[in-house]
Amino acid sequence: MVHPKEEKTLVLIKPDGVQRSLIGEIIRRYERSGLKLAGMKMTVPTSELVEKHYLVDPEWRVKTGQKTIESYRKKGKTPPSEDPLKVTEVILNNLKNYMVKGPVIAMVWQGMHAVGVVRKITGGTEPLTSDVGTIRGDLTIDSYEVSDIDGRAVRNLIHASGSADDAEKEIALWFGPGELIKYNLAGEAILYDVNLDGILE
Ligand code: GDP
Ligand code: MG
Repeated sequence: MVHPKEEKTLVLIKPDGVQRSLIGEIIRRYERSGLKLAGMKMTVPTSELVEKHYLVDPEWRVKTGQKTIESYRKKGKTPPSEDPLKVTEVILNNLKNYMVKGPVIAMVWQGMHAVGVVRKITGGTEPLTSDVGTIRGDLTIDSYEVSDIDGRAVRNLIHASGSADDAEKEIALWFGPGELIKYNLAGEAILYDVNLDGILE
């Protein structure tokens, strides 16, 4: 088993984040948590990579379709289809159109509870309802309602892995074996050392 401080997660700053000049602001929010940046690159993904990326979780199609149908019902609206797979097909196509339109920043953040910490800082999927204080809640304004009317993906600035398992598979898609750097960050001693020896002279 990997030590909890080795946990890694993939973050993508999507094309809207880069175009809004939010790269620095977004990195700042993750960096100050104490997590360590293990790799970073700027790239324009292909549609094939985007598809592989969203399908690393074999359940994603079904889960996303079901979640979307449920959220239509909650709002008293009729979903575009009763078949979760059909609903997800539209979402996936919209995502492919969105993600390939410009450069994205791909990053790997590492540290204790990296997946959970990054999801918390990132906020919920829909910017209109994500919490104040989160990246998606503070820095942009899109909603499912408007993105559905316009027939496009919701512009929510970030992708962040949903689990450590997904993260491992996603990282392998975006980074080659030599592109992640193993190093010590001085501040990690304060986060992880059991006894905090060596502070006092
Ligand atoms: P994330 O992990 O918070 O990004 O969310 P998911 O993994 O559930 O979904 C991935 C992407 O699918 C999101 O960034 C959205 O673009 C899209 N998506 C997910 N759920 C919905 C939904 O209910 N409606 C619409 N229109 N798009 C959705
Ligand atoms: Mg996800």
